[in-house]
Amino acid sequence: MSVTSRQSDFRPDDNAAPMALAEARRRIVDSIRPVQETERVALPQALHRVLAEPVVAGVDVPSAANSSMDGYGYPAASVPQADARLAIIGQSLAGHPFEGHVGPGECVRITTGAVVPPGVDTVVMQENTRLEHDTLVLESPAAPGANIRLAGEDLSRGDVVLPAGSFIRPADIAVLASVGAAEVSVVRRPRVAFFSTGDELRPIDGPLAPGEIYDSNRYGLAAQLDSLGMTGVDLGAVGDTPEALADAFDRAADCDAVITSGGVSVGSADFVVDVLGEKGTIDFWRVAIKPGKPLAFGTVGGARFFGLPGNPVSTAVTFIQLVRPALVQLAGGVPAAPTRLTLPTTTALTKRPGREHFLRARMDFTSASPRVTAIDHQGSGVMRSMSRADAFIVLSADSADVPAGALVTVEPFAQPVWGLAAF
Ligand code: AMP
Ligand code: MG
Repeated sequence: MSVTSRQSDFRPDDNAAPMALAEARRRIVDSIRPVQETERVALPQALHRVLAEPVVAGVDVPSAANSSMDGYGYPAASVPQADARLAIIGQSLAGHPFEGHVGPGECVRITTGAVVPPGVDTVVMQENTRLEHDTLVLESPAAPGANIRLAGEDLSRGDVVLPAGSFIRPADIAVLASVGAAEVSVVRRPRVAFFSTGDELRPIDGPLAPGEIYDSNRYGLAAQLDSLGMTGVDLGAVGDTPEALADAFDRAADCDAVITSGGVSVGSADFVVDVLGEKGTIDFWRVAIKPGKPLAFGTVGGARFFGLPGNPVSTAVTFIQLVRPALVQLAGGVPAAPTRLTLPTTTALTKRPGREHFLRARMDFTSASPRVTAIDHQGSGVMRSMSRADAFIVLSADSADVPAGALVTVEPFAQPVWGLAAF
């Protein structure tokens, strides 16, 4: 595929101050309108989906007062001291309530989860009793009211179980099941088109000629989308010509978002920003982070557009820091604030003030004093630095060199991406 010499109409202003990451993230997230379409799914299919409407409890949980212990239930007023004796008049088992009334001096055997019969206000653990024929001896009586779970103490009818925007986790499935929510309304999964750009890129299942490289970014992006539960639409590798890019943009325009890698710098084969300017809108393109400075954001057709830099570490870092929260917002969820720790660095770190740095690093929690170590090679083309790392060391834009032993901010790779929706 030939590289055209066509000159661009759009040239970003190199003198404009790059935007701070937090500002860029806020602007991007704020500008995104979530997918509006919803679908009803059976509860088991709702795992890792985003709730489109609040779920309101139609029942009390638990539905009736019940025992939290295997033991004996009785009216507390009738047992003033230790070694009190009570007549056992029946039993209440889970699923098989005792039908009668329990009066003073009487008790029933009761199992965990069994309904507390009328008259009973206290349950004593079996371990604190002994049996003498049909008589129960209370070796140490329970405090009045003990070991009884009240009706509705988990959720009452009419309570909001989960608000709209909740990302449904296994515990949420259980709580939804506890109110009998057999079906729930969820947001349609976003469709996210992605393609890589570069005449040097080759498919991973063939040989390489000198100067060619495997198209690794596209696989990394596909995996990121998979792990977010989004529907990825792979548009392949696109050559470095405005025509090829324009064609790819057209194919992507009916998706909810488009992500590209490469071609967003100011090299003579970087046409993404130009074509975006013709086909859609450009919001901004330089962010003060390292790696990852050149970045295009805008729209193509109805889709949000994210043009990520081609250096593989830059692609990964900008995806995690900027695109992932945007996709969570697009999916109707709540982007989680980054989880950050403070750990001492085992090595000195060099840094010039200006951009926020994301160094790839490994955390060590095996010793009594946890610490973090930067990976030895921090080049933005060195993808093994991401693959061997489990965290970023985040150095703020204004920070300079950091001595060994100093405390640094650490962002673990494993962290919540979906925040909790507000009640
Ligand atoms: P670019 O942003 O297009 O200037 O590319 C920057 C660097 O990233 C170059 O060394 C490219 O060869 C490399 N690169 C671009 N796209 C990919 C890709 N899909 N997979 C791996 N490396 C890439
Ligand atoms: Mg390129």
